[in-house]
Amino acid sequence: MAMKTEFKAESKRLLELMINSIYTQKEIFLRELISNASDAIDKIYYKALTDDSLTFEKDNYYIKVSADKESRTLRVADTGIGMTKEELENNLGVIAKSGSFAFKNENELKDGHDIIGQFGVGFYSAFMVADTVTVLTKALGSDTAYKWESEGADGYTIETVEKDEVGTEIILKIKENTEDENYDEFLEDYRLRSIIKKYSDFIRYPIKMDVKVN
Ligand code: ADP
Ligand code: MG
Repeated sequence: MAMKTEFKAESKRLLELMINSIYTQKEIFLRELISNASDAIDKIYYKALTDDSLTFEKDNYYIKVSADKESRTLRVADTGIGMTKEELENNLGVIAKSGSFAFKNENELKDGHDIIGQFGVGFYSAFMVADTVTVLTKALGSDTAYKWESEGADGYTIETVEKDEVGTEIILKIKENTEDENYDEFLEDYRLRSIIKKYSDFIRYPIKMDVKVN
């Protein structure tokens, strides 16, 4: 059993906000995960521009979204640059200066309804719809892959794992429906497709989904 590491105080606050979110646009978590996946592919793209040992074969870079109702899991996989153990700790263990931070500040300044939707709320928004978030990742140039896992505010674990391809897979264990909230919809292909159309249409890498025949 891997040891649990506590989130930094600030991250913990944001996480609690996300977990207890009464925010109606929970669907934006998918936009955040896809935008992170796209950023991770961009990083390989830009690296290839200056690194002769690296060629960017367009067809090899994509994002894949797949849902499995039986296990209540939603998976967002990318063939991007991946994360080292240190990057996992620094990027997912604390609030990045980025989106999450902007969200937090703006949210303290104004209290309009739809403000959150305008900003990048970041990785932690996954906790609006998931009770466990698992990240499998292998960094470009690294031999070791890692699994980061968290059930929310009380911390995360990191352990080594087998993963052949460079890139990252985010696996959400989607929450059970409650009397007031429907989460099952985030396991429905048609619903996922429409969220992707709505928020991620401009993403310049292909977003693939399994096409199920039955
Ligand atoms: P932001 O994208 O605004 O930096 P996020 O909270 O969305 O903030 O993500 C935090 C950081 O975690 C990212 O900056 C990136 O370094 C890392 N990260 C998240 N998702 C991925 C991914 N799919 N591949 C590689 N790195 C990722
Ligand atoms: Mg982001």
